[in-house]
Amino acid sequence: MKEYDVIVVGGGIHGAGVLQAVVAAGHSALLLERRALASGTSSRSSKLIHGGLRYLESGQFALVRESLRERAILLRIASDLVELRPFFIPVYRDTRRRPWQLRLGLSMYALLGGFDASTRFGSVPRREWETLDGLDTRGLDAVIRYHDAQTDDAQLTRAVVQSAMSLGAEIAMPAGFAEARLAQSHVDVSYRQGSSTVECRARVLVNAAGPWAAQVAHAIQPAIAIPAIDLVQGTHIVVPLQVTAGIYYVESPQDGRAVFIMPWKGATLIGTTETPFRGEPDRVHPLPAEEDYLLAVARRYFPALKDITRERIVERFAGLRVLPAATQAAFDRSRETIFVADREPHPRVLGIYGGKLTGWRAAAAHVLARISPSLPVSSRRAETEDLVLRRTT
Ligand SMILES: Cc1cc2nc3c(=O)[nH]c(=O)nc-3n(C[C@H](O)[C@H](O)[C@H](O)COP(=O)(O)OP(=O)(O)OC[C@H]3O[C@@H](n4cnc5c(N)ncnc54)[C@H](O)[C@@H]3O)c2cc1C
Repeated sequence: MKEYDVIVVGGGIHGAGVLQAVVAAGHSALLLERRALASGTSSRSSKLIHGGLRYLESGQFALVRESLRERAILLRIASDLVELRPFFIPVYRDTRRRPWQLRLGLSMYALLGGFDASTRFGSVPRREWETLDGLDTRGLDAVIRYHDAQTDDAQLTRAVVQSAMSLGAEIAMPAGFAEARLAQSHVDVSYRQGSSTVECRARVLVNAAGPWAAQVAHAIQPAIAIPAIDLVQGTHIVVPLQVTAGIYYVESPQDGRAVFIMPWKGATLIGTTETPFRGEPDRVHPLPAEEDYLLAVARRYFPALKDITRERIVERFAGLRVLPAATQAAFDRSRETIFVADREPHPRVLGIYGGKLTGWRAAAAHVLARISPSLPVSSRRAETEDLVLRRTT
């Protein structure tokens, strides 16, 4: 039976990040992914590497500071995958947040981002409004411009796995985690590959199965704690409009929620919705009502799209956010990652629930710190904040 220091379940951005952090610290690791890398949420996000400007309103300052720090690191180590883009917030007479509120928020954002050049912001002069991709200027009071970053989430995930493999990580794919049995100081893991079942052993099992994390946790014996979570569906659509000036951060005319309208592979990506989801995560798919909601947003801000219908959508995808269970609207809930160990201070299982694409490296560093007491002494091979990430295709 093969033995590893760590076995990671799930080839999304979190599994990729943990795999890289573990091998960079000098340990052995195996990643199990039942389909393809980034086949879950990590290819269905809004593709933003951002501080999360709106999290300031819910007082999540630590999250914003950490995200801005991670954004700065990724702009440095993944420069061909993560790019700074101008963001535009149009403010109309009836927009909920007024320009002074946005400027206050952006001043706080700049402070938390250490006032580096990328945190500068201002207003787009009226004479330049015509450069904004046909944005509706009727009743427009101001357009606020700031910067955040955009990536290709699936490419980023593959690049992190590639980096981990170059440091000696192993990967089994397609390979579905089947079950695990906890012993005093190790975990016996079985996974399915084709028609065979493979047995292996690890000091620690990291459950990075995203929306499937609860299913994976249920297959561990003896039973371990599983946090109360909700799954919330987020849909994006791609339409054949060309937005090129930057990313528009707008309010939905229906309920005032924030929606992004952004350039994406020669077309325009619009997202996202927040629909409570119950059922099997494999079944998540865009709902017609969600597509109508997103089209209504696009029509409101870009009059050239007034005739656009669902038939013109060229691509659609839905992903699942993992959020702490609560009664309030998904939009207002904490986006902090939840880490759950089966025991302290020597965990045999550590589960990652929720989190952000942006924070993958910090989340992985946190996981490594939590599981290190269970791992043998090793000599570090690299620091993840110095490992350059490159496109794999
Ligand atoms: C609509 C939406 C928009 C978002 N936008 C942003 C954004 O713009 N910026 C940002 O920072 N964050 C964003 N996020 C959050 C971010 O996308 C997620 O936090 C992140 O992608 C989660 O990655 P993960 O690795 O935890 O899960 P996933 O990417 O879902 O990976 C889990 C993996 O586990 C695998 N798996 C499941 N079960 C098994 C098994 N039994 N055996 C083996 N493998 C298994 C799955 O196949 C999958 O590949 C968004 C999320 C959503 C839903």
